[in-house]
Amino acid sequence: MIKFLDLHKINNRFRDEFKAAFSIALNDAHFILGKNVTNFENEFASYCGTKYCVGTANGLDALTLILKGYIHLGKLKKGDKVIVPANTFIATILSILHAELVPVLVEPDASTYNISVDTDTTKFVEAKAIIMVHLYGQLADAEYFQQIAKQFNCLLIEDAAQAHGAELSNDLTQQSSAKQLRAGSLSHAAAFSFYPSKNLGALGDGGAITTDDLELVKVIRLMRNYGSKEKYQNEIVGYNSRLDDMQAAFLSIKLKVLDADNKRRREIAEVYLEQIHNSKIKLPFYNGSKNHVFYAFVVEVENRKDFIDYLNKNEIEWLIHYPVPPHQQKALEPFLHLNLPLTEKIHKRIISLPISPVLTDMEIQTVIEVINTY
Ligand SMILES: *Cc1c(COP(=O)(O)O)cnc(C)c1O
Repeated sequence: MIKFLDLHKINNRFRDEFKAAFSIALNDAHFILGKNVTNFENEFASYCGTKYCVGTANGLDALTLILKGYIHLGKLKKGDKVIVPANTFIATILSILHAELVPVLVEPDASTYNISVDTDTTKFVEAKAIIMVHLYGQLADAEYFQQIAKQFNCLLIEDAAQAHGAELSNDLTQQSSAKQLRAGSLSHAAAFSFYPSKNLGALGDGGAITTDDLELVKVIRLMRNYGSKEKYQNEIVGYNSRLDDMQAAFLSIKLKVLDADNKRRREIAEVYLEQIHNSKIKLPFYNGSKNHVFYAFVVEVENRKDFIDYLNKNEIEWLIHYPVPPHQQKALEPFLHLNLPLTEKIHKRIISLPISPVLTDMEIQTVIEVINTY
């Protein structure tokens, strides 16, 4: 059986370091917003190339707190429209609803699955924010949307929950030593998730915001902690959405190997792209740069049910990111009438193959052979 994602194997690499961190935490007994959170926030801001990072309880809260933070600062107001790709994970859209804003769902690009540069620009006239999701680990066209955000006076927000470490670069050789811009630093504010399956995953829930905006950081630091800077002094109506201190310690340990893990994911993707030859399988678009960290390796197939039976028979695990588009979920009934044929077509055809830093060369070859004989 080839696992889709072997979380035991991924995390077992750090067993001794995790145990040491746990032992220190147990001794220090400073479990909430202790020094592990501060350390990780500093490390992650520096890694992403932003001035600030604020840890949160999860990725959905990171997105929601960015939007609520902007509302608090008067940069957004209830009912404002927010552009979002229709084929994202539902969390992106939920954050907009939780902030009492109005999601405007747009079709993605058919080859990258990211928000399309062909999106009708009249949509941006009324919008007050754009959420650019770096879906499956591949950066959306940040330079284009930075320019659009400026032109239409919109806030640009990244949902970077699948793209930790993705770099904006046109250097196809991956040799350049110049510091590259990373996911999290390509917009006014970015949200990350450290859900265990993500490229940088905790041993539980976790999330973060990265930004250069000190005003926003101040508000979100208050919001995530009952609106309080000093214990029992509540300045605003806050929430409880703190990054857990123990998880922060684990994340600091794993952050050190994130670049190496992402490199391995790209290597595997390149082998798949070179060696999978089957006219029934549409392979994903990849420009060969570090702009993709392959959170998922998503292929398209006409008869997905048949392909799934075949993978099951050959003991290759798979996943679908995602089987039902958000606007067709019961929870989002008011959006059901939307005409999103491309999104609906993509959701019917996509399937994700195993990819992870701990996949062995032999497993990779097995996946390729099985698919080539489909
Ligand atoms: C995982 C994910 C989230 C939400 O993260 P949680 O930590 O599960 O709340 C948001 N957006 C995208 C694109 C994701 O993949």
